[in-house]
Formats: sequence, structure tokens, C-alpha cells
Amino acid sequence: MNKREKEKYVRLLLERKLELLQEIGVEENYLAKIAREASGDLSSFSYHMADQSGETYRRELQAGLTTEQIRILRAIDEALKRLHEGSYGKCTKCGGSIQKARLDFVPWARHCITCQRSFEGSGTP
Ligand SMILES: [Zn+2]
Repeated sequence: MNKREKEKYVRLLLERKLELLQEIGVEENYLAKIAREASGDLSSFSYHMADQSGETYRRELQAGLTTEQIRILRAIDEALKRLHEGSYGKCTKCGGSIQKARLDFVPWARHCITCQRSFEGSGTP
């Protein structure tokens, strides 16, 4: 995955994260900070945003976020971490590449479609 593609996915992930955090009702200045990161120069992107999520999750619980929203938010942070580490776009189960079309649709996807289908078939998350 080249730098341009990585930046595209960082942006997709941050935009989705921003939407979720808005639903939660996170402080304006924190949202503005993420929005700046999402629209700015992503070469300076770092993992620190994911580090701040502990506090975010406490707020989520207070705000009564749905399990699904929390799950996606965590998955986004994990995806940002993988982008930072350089393992993004690889299936965490079989190590194969996750299809680009799948990442465009679900940028926080952890598994390739084959592994995902086998999980769904067996009932394992
Ligand atoms: Zn796989």
C-alpha cells in the first residue's frame, strides 16, 4: 500500500471516528482537533489520537452509546494503529491482503472477506 492510499484510509477512518464522536457528544475542541488532523497534512499523522481513547470510552458509556458504536470506534482506533505500524490492509488471521473494495467500504476491516465469511459461518466474531 502506497503513501497516497494510506492517507486516503487515515482520512476515511478519521472522518468516521469524527462522526461517531459527534454522536457521543465529545467536547468541541477535541472534535476540532481531529477534524484538523483529518483535513491537514497526514504525513504528520501519529498514533497519539488513538492513545486518547481511554477517556473517550468512559464518556461513551455515560452517553449510553450502543455496543455497535463502541465496537466500530475501537476497530477504527485499531486500524489507525495498524496504519501507523504498517500492517494495515493485511488480514490479521491469514495475513493475506484485504481487498481494496472491502477497505473502501469498511476501512476498519481486520479480516479479508474469506476469513470474515468463515467467522460468520461458525458464529465466532
Ligand atoms: Zn484472511
